[in-house]
Amino acid sequence: MVALDQQLTDVLGAKSAKALETAFDMHTVEHLLRAYPRKYERRGALTDLAGLQIGDHVTIQAEVLSFVTHKNKSRAGTRQEVVITDGTGKLTLVFFNQHWREKELSEGARGLFSGQITVFNNKRQLAHPDYELLGVTDEVDASKYVDMYLPVYSATAKVQSWTISKCVDLVIDQLDVLEDPLPESMRNERKLIGLGDALKWIHRPASDEQLEQARERLKWDEALSLQLVLSKQRHEERSWPAVPRLEKPDGLLAAFDASLPFTLTDGQKEVSRTIAEELAAGHPMHRLLQGEVGSGKTVLALRAMLTVVDSGGQAALLAPTEVLAAQHYRAITKLLGPLAERGKLGSHDEGTGVTLLTGSLNTASRRQALLDITSGQAGIVIGTHALLEDRVDFYDLGLVVIDEQHRFGVEQRATLVAKAGSDRRPHVLVMTATPIPRTVAMTAFGALDISTLKELPGGRSPITTHVVYAAEQPAHLDRAWQRAVEEVKAGHQVYVVVPRIASQEDKPTDKNQRPAIALEDLAPQLMEGPLKDVRVGIMHGGLSGADKDDVMQRFALGPAHADGIDVMVSTTVIEVGVDVPNATMMVIMDADRFGISQLHQLRGRVGRGSAPGLCLLVTEAGKFSSSRERLDAVASTTDGFKLAELDLEQRREGDILGREQSGVRSSLHLVSVLKDDELLEEARVEAERIIAIDPELTDHSALERSLQALVNQDRAEYVKKS
Ligand code: ADP
Ligand code: MG
Repeated sequence: MVALDQQLTDVLGAKSAKALETAFDMHTVEHLLRAYPRKYERRGALTDLAGLQIGDHVTIQAEVLSFVTHKNKSRAGTRQEVVITDGTGKLTLVFFNQHWREKELSEGARGLFSGQITVFNNKRQLAHPDYELLGVTDEVDASKYVDMYLPVYSATAKVQSWTISKCVDLVIDQLDVLEDPLPESMRNERKLIGLGDALKWIHRPASDEQLEQARERLKWDEALSLQLVLSKQRHEERSWPAVPRLEKPDGLLAAFDASLPFTLTDGQKEVSRTIAEELAAGHPMHRLLQGEVGSGKTVLALRAMLTVVDSGGQAALLAPTEVLAAQHYRAITKLLGPLAERGKLGSHDEGTGVTLLTGSLNTASRRQALLDITSGQAGIVIGTHALLEDRVDFYDLGLVVIDEQHRFGVEQRATLVAKAGSDRRPHVLVMTATPIPRTVAMTAFGALDISTLKELPGGRSPITTHVVYAAEQPAHLDRAWQRAVEEVKAGHQVYVVVPRIASQEDKPTDKNQRPAIALEDLAPQLMEGPLKDVRVGIMHGGLSGADKDDVMQRFALGPAHADGIDVMVSTTVIEVGVDVPNATMMVIMDADRFGISQLHQLRGRVGRGSAPGLCLLVTEAGKFSSSRERLDAVASTTDGFKLAELDLEQRREGDILGREQSGVRSSLHLVSVLKDDELLEEARVEAERIIAIDPELTDHSALERSLQALVNQDRAEYVKKS
């Protein structure tokens, strides 16, 4: 009998076990069996060579006639051609650089050969077939080979699929799952088969039905395990102490609210209430605030920060880029007005210091900023990754706000959170403008509660989007530049977005594809051509922090000002958060090279003020290209959630969760966060129920053990921090 927790060395021997360990980090039988086949192929029925069709998957019983090694003509290496016959015809097997096979496939050797029939030089062949040799007297047990599921495993150069398959063969028949991790009641209720059968059938299904049942059971295990890890995490985080931050009736927040030039939308009010309640609790808030660009998240974050400052604590806002950090700094000091001028003459007595900390500060400013953070002079600290450095030491960090979460790894968040001290946690508010369908958010940000701002504040102007087919209608592009000049003449600013900075950067992988339009090429063309009468500035990630800042500020000044910039030609550095309400038009060049969500993000930069926005998606893509469909979709709606779903459908799931979240993803083999949303939701409910009554899973020890095996220690750490 073989048990799941048995070491592979015990059952497979040292050599195979070592190979699996090196290639896949597998140590136990469970590790091996949890690596399910990537797909299944069906061997065709035992076939006569005479009746072969191109493309058939076949198994042939035949004898070797000859083995010849050829030197490749055009490139290094050798090619082995092995001619086999079954008496009805001949067929050539082809291998590359495998001269050693001559020992096995010498003249007269008999065996079963399987693979797919291809054609080369008008000759049918079987390229690198799978084969099994038969001794001279062996009876052929054809039934073992034909017309059954051939599991195909994820292989490496060193460990081939069939090597794994053979290892699985060695354990699968003797497998004995002593205790099913799923309680029987749950199995009955969900009509799931036992774990032992499920593992046997996923590896060696005898029928479609078995495969289906195995999948169903193992999918539930995955979904439940994932949700249990996340539930446990939520439970743990909520049991950390946090300093309750209460609203003060005559504090900074009250003064701020009184000075706000607008009233909060109902949605904003509701989220604000939730945040206030959570800040007032003795356990840390962990909230994800998602909402369209311009839906008013920043104002809510600022209100939360002021609540914390009112109660004597500090709030830190972490932004992904210097441009954004600087912009947050400006926006927040502006919104706060005199409230941000603590200690200055004539300032509000309830004011607080607002400090910006980025990598590009000079030594003196940095020293001052660090001092203000340590002493508590700075109630609100805004910064980039520079905030994560060791020497940044807060006086009393009560709230961490993270803007545009998808740009930060989970590790980074953990670093900042730890700055509140070892005995408590700060409240955490994560803001993202990238709409994510609920189940994806639930998985990627599983430990966070989610609030969504659905509507834009009233008075927001609509954005009209058009696709400009530059190749087919060049006149439309000329007209676009005219329109840009008109917008400037009317007192507004215009963005022009290009996919990259320099022309010689990356060569296109597809030779037929024109290199993407580069900022360095386009900007001078525009300045000398259609935009020669307006002031053009450039903006990209290669500029110094000070230069970026300068361009942004002058762009914000715009046509009305002597030092202003009217048109900003930029890379996607402006994608997130940049807020110049007076900008009304955006031209996105080579728009087909951007993803749906990215286009939507970009276009959110315009129409933020009182004037309507216009976005032109310029493409040279042809009429029938697939990108055209995407562009038309972006032009047809401004509903970010709709577009996000469309986007997700077109991308691979790996991209959705992002690399940082791979800890979660690596435990999902069968479950799709997109397609299995119902299953994930059901598993979540079940997990919450279990954790509520048994947070340590002490009464579910088998479940706990299987959880550990599925989500190994490293991964659990990862998930914890997400
Ligand atoms: P987000 O961070 O979600 O992109 P912001 O908080 O930056 O959105 O808000 C975008 C703009 O709308 C800002 O200029 C902000 O002052 C303004 N704004 C926010 N809430 C409202 C509201 N309820 N009514 C009017 N304007 C608002
Ligand atoms: Mg914002």
